[in-house]
Amino acid sequence: MNTKVWKVDKYVDNLENNPQVVDAANFLRDNEVVALPTETVYGLGGNAKSDTAVKKIFAAKGRPSDNPLIIHIAEKRQLSTFVEDIPEKAERLIEAFWPGPLTIIFKRKEGVLSETATAGLATVAVRIPDHPVALALLKSCGLPIAAPSANSSGKPSPTNADHVLDDLNGKIAGVIDGGATGIGVESTVVDCTEAIPVILRPGGVTKEQLESIVGEVQVDAALTDEAARPKAPGMKYRHYAPNAPLYMVSGTTKFLHRLVEEKRQEGLRVGVLTTKENAHLFEADVVLTCGKRAELETVAAALYDTLRKFNLEKVDVIYSEVFPNTGVGQAIMNRLQKAAGNKLITE
Ligand code: AMP
Ligand code: MG
Repeated sequence: MNTKVWKVDKYVDNLENNPQVVDAANFLRDNEVVALPTETVYGLGGNAKSDTAVKKIFAAKGRPSDNPLIIHIAEKRQLSTFVEDIPEKAERLIEAFWPGPLTIIFKRKEGVLSETATAGLATVAVRIPDHPVALALLKSCGLPIAAPSANSSGKPSPTNADHVLDDLNGKIAGVIDGGATGIGVESTVVDCTEAIPVILRPGGVTKEQLESIVGEVQVDAALTDEAARPKAPGMKYRHYAPNAPLYMVSGTTKFLHRLVEEKRQEGLRVGVLTTKENAHLFEADVVLTCGKRAELETVAAALYDTLRKFNLEKVDVIYSEVFPNTGVGQAIMNRLQKAAGNKLITE
């Protein structure tokens, strides 16, 4: 399959009628799959009402069929067509965070969405993305769009159109290149089907921000306890992994130096994932900086691109700094833990 690339400037007016966007929307209406920029990462979109379209998403990504997709809509009023009800706390979260990086789980109405998209669950995950191109595409096609991250399953999520093409060129109908995404990690997934909302995946909206709107918010036990079964089916899979084994390192720079030297003496090509503040401290084969520690948002924005760069550098092993587990640091550490398969070396 020839994968089309539509270049779209997200700052131009009247995006909904932009010929590139309209062309991409036509592909979606024909049940083809198209990658699109959002404010979090690039998504791989398909008509959420069509089993044919949704199966193409799973096939292109190599995604396990038990891992449901997030449904993207342009306007809140589309919700009532496929969710049972909007609980009061969900209503408040929508008011505060949509459009934005917050995915809410609702009870699902039967018979509207593809059962493949929801992996047969009685619930459905939904969000309105905060990106002009994504919103224009959603409005132009007029459909709810199922869109997981537009990477091959298991790889780091794509934060620009080149990442998408690296993984999916020839496997999808097209990609809208709207430039680099902003936040860089995925949406927060919060289950609002019970009285107290539960975070199933940390992301662009922090626990503290959610609590400021609805009071108590719980965190799925699986996020802190490896033995617990995650409520979001996708959280049990290894994700975001670079080709080389990745180790998180908690300790002094001297300690990290020692680890690097040991591996170099074994003849291995060693990568270090560090930050602007610390980069000058290391002499590894490949030292890549991933934002500034003092501004964790910049780390989130650069994380997946940095993990992908280690693949290009063909390192044999990667050591990474760890980050504080607060604010967006929770999402960063969750992604690093997945990428590392939880391998942590403590001094
Ligand atoms: P992705 O779109 O690949 O970034 O992943 C979406 C995440 O949301 C995965 O971890 C899914 O398992 C999770 N998810 C989607 N739908 C549901 C649902 N109905 N209940 C719980 N988790 C869900
Ligand atoms: Mg994903």
